[in-house]
Amino acid sequence: MTQDAYAYVRHYHYYYGWAMVIFWVVVVVIGLTHKLLAYWEISSKRSVNAQGRSSLWFKRNVVTPATFGQRCVQDFGGWGTVPPRVQTLTLVLFLLLNIACSVHGYRAFDGYAYAPIKGMQMLRHISDRTGVLSFANFPIIWLFGMRNNIVIWLTGWDFKTYNNFHRWVGRISMVEAVIHSIGYSVLLVWKSGWPYFWWMWTWTYWWTGELATVFLCMIVGLSVFWFRRQQYELFLVLHIGLSILILLGMLGHVSIFRGAYDPLVWIPVIIWALDRLARGARIFAFSPRFWRAKATVTYNEDAHMVRVVVPLSSSLYDIQPGTFYYLMVLNKWNFWESHPFTVASVSGSDCYGPEAEQSSPLLRPVPMTQTTGYSEKSQREMTFLIRPYESFTARLKEYAEAEQPKPATLRVAIDGPYGKVLPLVNFDKVVFIVGGSGIVVPVSYLNMLTSSTRPESIEIHWAIRQPALAIDVLDRELRDALGNERVKISIYLTGVERRRTADEAIYKGVEWRSGRVNVEETVDRALDAGEDGRLAVVTSGPGRMADETRRVVAARMVPSLPRVEYFEESFEW
Ligand SMILES: Cc1cc2nc3c(=O)[nH]c(=O)nc-3n(C[C@H](O)[C@H](O)[C@H](O)COP(=O)(O)OP(=O)(O)OC[C@H]3O[C@@H](n4cnc5c(N)ncnc54)[C@H](O)[C@@H]3O)c2cc1C
Repeated sequence: MTQDAYAYVRHYHYYYGWAMVIFWVVVVVIGLTHKLLAYWEISSKRSVNAQGRSSLWFKRNVVTPATFGQRCVQDFGGWGTVPPRVQTLTLVLFLLLNIACSVHGYRAFDGYAYAPIKGMQMLRHISDRTGVLSFANFPIIWLFGMRNNIVIWLTGWDFKTYNNFHRWVGRISMVEAVIHSIGYSVLLVWKSGWPYFWWMWTWTYWWTGELATVFLCMIVGLSVFWFRRQQYELFLVLHIGLSILILLGMLGHVSIFRGAYDPLVWIPVIIWALDRLARGARIFAFSPRFWRAKATVTYNEDAHMVRVVVPLSSSLYDIQPGTFYYLMVLNKWNFWESHPFTVASVSGSDCYGPEAEQSSPLLRPVPMTQTTGYSEKSQREMTFLIRPYESFTARLKEYAEAEQPKPATLRVAIDGPYGKVLPLVNFDKVVFIVGGSGIVVPVSYLNMLTSSTRPESIEIHWAIRQPALAIDVLDRELRDALGNERVKISIYLTGVERRRTADEAIYKGVEWRSGRVNVEETVDRALDAGEDGRLAVVTSGPGRMADETRRVVAARMVPSLPRVEYFEESFEW
């Protein structure tokens, strides 16, 4: 009887362990199907009504909005962010599945040989089950936490989405590990007393398992929102260190099963190793002799913006708009730090000639000939516009300041490309609502959009604090777009009261405004003017602006209005 009951429970351990993986396989298949349908829908130019009322309802109420109210990028009182509704619903379903798998599939009876009392038997089974579920979640946690992750490619969902899944699966796994560890500890004391419990600590599988649970709690605790935001680098080092300790702990813990559970340690190790390998391959593909690759770095104090220019001469691939790259500075002490930045523009160095610089009174002209190799006219370059914060970006600023008035030259490794090209050429109208350094997103797409027949109209609504930033970017990255009648640029000065009449005179096509972007009015105007054409609204900027845009666009996904899609290029994970 005991053997039967044990076999019965073990079967469920096995199936429910697999249920964790199957759940995410189903999610990925849904994502893949959605991606293929979206391609078909966009490229087949179906009309608004053809979209179907139910699919619009689903987009308006499930896919696009924030989970609660309008906070998605913005945090809740410094405690954390809540993902969009569709992600939250997915995670709630996964949580329910974990709860169901933890409480179902047991046969309890008095007289079970391993635990004579029914309660003890249940405690044993639940402790076993939660241990299995916690461990079965490991490959998912590791996969979703990686930069190079095949499911990003399959579904087209961004790293931020998988990062949310990574965090929540990790938290669920931690709770299960805690139940497993506490459950077994209580069981030992209950069944055999404290002396036996203490004696158990002499067993490797026991103390390594308990330590793995402690490390799991630590890794989740040290990943809290404010710590991640305040001390990103420390968070990352601790995260990697604790991950290794958890895997080592688990290897010791499952050693009593003679290899049966070892794959759950080795799969995360392989996922991690493949990610590192892919990073190396990407760095190599950008610059086969990456240790010699150089970038020039300048800092415009008035604009509070660092400009990093990287030659593309040895890149084995083409740079696509909207993609992002991790930058590493190799010849400084912080060479291991790797931070993501979206490519702002790709050009030959002759595009940024002295002419452009002279037209801006606020710029500090830097003669291009002072830059190593930059006098070569045919040199193609990739430019990043980087807003300095406290750490890596602040150091870029310092390197640039130390060399002024010359640009600083740094050895850099570029790990990319990541992200995807948004299908904006399939829309009739594109409205960018961006703030500060978020301007890199429209700038990145401008060349592609203006050289395609669609969209017919491109609006850039850009909120900034420093007018000098606008001048800098207008003179360089936006210079070609200024004369293009399909492109309309509106600049909102949020930090200064007074309009700059001199700038208004110089940049004729640009509309200068004071105050915040009125998102509702902007989207409504675009929809009114769009007739039956399709509208894409793209945001990249402060959380409040992005969240408001998300809310406004979601509310307008109704059959009576032209079709509108929301795209968010977030700079925060
Ligand atoms: C896909 C993507 C594209 C981006 N593109 C640009 C861009 O083109 N221009 C630009 O100015 N900024 C961009 N950012 C933001 C930029 O990566 C961060 O501002 C930068 O990493 C902060 O570095 P720091 O060490 O100086 O930050 P800190 O002062 O330590 O922190 C500032 C903020 O940045 C966050 N942060 C720090 N490091 C990282 C990291 N490695 N990954 C994600 N977030 C981090 C912190 O949590 C904190 O909220 C982008 C971010 C992402 C995710």
